[in-house]
Amino acid sequence: MYRPRNDPSPLSSAFLKLPDTLLLVFDREGRLNMISEAWVEALGYDLGELKQHCFFDLLYENDRSECRTKLDNMNATAPTLRFSSRCCRKAGGYLGVVWNLTLDVETDHFYASAHETAVHLSPEEPQLPDVFVDGLTGLPNRSLFIDRLEHTFRRTERRKDLQFAVLHCGIDRFKVINHSLGHRMGDLLLMNVANLIRSTIRPTDMVARLAGDEFGILLEDIRDVSSTLHVVTRILQKLQLPFVLHEHEVFSTISFGIVVSGEEYLQPDAMLRDANLAMVGAKEQGGGAYMVFNRGMHDQAVRRMELEMDLRHALERGEFQAYYQPIVNLEHGTLAGFEALVRWNHPTKGLISPLEFIPVTEETGLIIPLGRWMLHEACRQLKHWQSTLPNTAELTVSVNLSGKQLQHSNLLDDVRDALSHSDLSPRALKLEITESAMMQDTERAVYLLEQLQAMGIRILLDDFGTGYSSLAYLHRLPIDTLKVDRSFVRHLHENKTDRHFVETIVHLAHRLQQDVICEGVELQEQADILAAMGVGYIQGFLYSRPVAANEAEILILSGLDQKG
Ligand code: C2E
Ligand code: MG
Ligand code: MG
Repeated sequence: MYRPRNDPSPLSSAFLKLPDTLLLVFDREGRLNMISEAWVEALGYDLGELKQHCFFDLLYENDRSECRTKLDNMNATAPTLRFSSRCCRKAGGYLGVVWNLTLDVETDHFYASAHETAVHLSPEEPQLPDVFVDGLTGLPNRSLFIDRLEHTFRRTERRKDLQFAVLHCGIDRFKVINHSLGHRMGDLLLMNVANLIRSTIRPTDMVARLAGDEFGILLEDIRDVSSTLHVVTRILQKLQLPFVLHEHEVFSTISFGIVVSGEEYLQPDAMLRDANLAMVGAKEQGGGAYMVFNRGMHDQAVRRMELEMDLRHALERGEFQAYYQPIVNLEHGTLAGFEALVRWNHPTKGLISPLEFIPVTEETGLIIPLGRWMLHEACRQLKHWQSTLPNTAELTVSVNLSGKQLQHSNLLDDVRDALSHSDLSPRALKLEITESAMMQDTERAVYLLEQLQAMGIRILLDDFGTGYSSLAYLHRLPIDTLKVDRSFVRHLHENKTDRHFVETIVHLAHRLQQDVICEGVELQEQADILAAMGVGYIQGFLYSRPVAANEAEILILSGLDQKG
């Protein structure tokens, strides 16, 4: 979300390309500082023309004075406002709009986000848009919700990468409250629930009162069903506290039916219907729950939620285990070190792949303690081998770092702690970071990696070739080794392009005095080609899969002669 705090840039340079979102910035006089492309399109003007207008010019004349009064009343103690008005279209006709206004007190500018209702009222007799607003709660009503849903539906038909969710929610046992405490209390509860939902969702999402005690929520541009479940969980969490209605403490719960957009829906109505059915299912479970309509999605969401719950306890229950995969010096055929790879020994589900749970730990923040644990464990293990097994002085261990760990301020301390606790030499530790993690905040990443290098630790760029780093600036990154991703190695023996790619990388890396490790080597033929190219190190199932520490010990002792 754009929010320049001190100096809203002039209209021309701030021409925002935020498709289908109506955003405006203007001052007390209504002078426009920013306008989104969607506005220009919705009102049928071109940008040059809109520059000549002030905000109030855009409104239907009978709405202007009321709107001015509303804005005049906004100040530091009342910096936000939601109201509806009509906007004039250039070609005639009007647009009913529900506004979300925020006053930036520092700059005295208004930031307005709105959603076109898609209702083009006739020029002769513009109806009051308040027909779209529910009188009791101030929320959009069912017609406006359906309008917006249709609009969103059309938008995502054009953009298949966008997903949205429709939630149908109902207050559990609302009738009981209404009957026992009276209608006035019932109304108050509805208003409180409306506010609670409104304050939980993003301003760009929509909550509407559909009927009686039922609300509809439209969550746009979601990644998958799990983002929807987070919203639901937040609402349910807030409902654990009672509402205070005229000195009565009233506990209330809500049931949610959830539908996520997808190919199977041809009409927005069908989504609302399915969301309603799912809500009924959730109520049947006793309320205060949600149900995702689509069976497949439901299973996936439930698994994901279960995973998240189980992960919270996994560390303290000692369910994580470090596995080790050998890295082989290709020229000498000797063991150079290991990559430490985390495994989760789930008590009922067995061994779970990091590909499945690392993203969840990144989203929940659990990657920080987990990453710290892996650092400590890998350092401790290598030091143990060095102190107990022969020919291990030169072995190294590589630990993967997530981008989240780089953003976390304690990384340097964590690494120092792991080294000092284990008494491992920094030269024996390597840290692997992916290109995409590096790109999240390059400046910070470069700073941290330089600090780590200064400590004597070596840095590997993992999964090289899959991210967006350009060869041109590789030399500016503090990198000691490139790890070529296994997707380039897989077809090496049969694909010329992949061979050329790896060859180019090897030349470049050597010019930059960087080492190269090729991941995913499964065939002797691949190893031979890589050796001929001058690749220094390889890692892959050809030598060994990642194995538990006791098996890794056997590999160390056997000098790595067994392959496969
Ligand atoms: P990665 O760091 O690129 O690790 C290499 C992955 O390739 C490992 O998968 C390894 O088992 C697999 N692999 C190695 N050789 C071969 C081969 O010859 N053929 C095939 N098909 N695969 C091979 P794994 O252990 O499932 O780990 C997947 C990813 O999860 C890792 O990719 C890394 O990004 C992440 N990960 C694992 N452990 C950690 C950790 O402790 N911290 C963090 N942040 N990420 C981790
Ligand atoms: Mg790695
Ligand atoms: Mg990799």
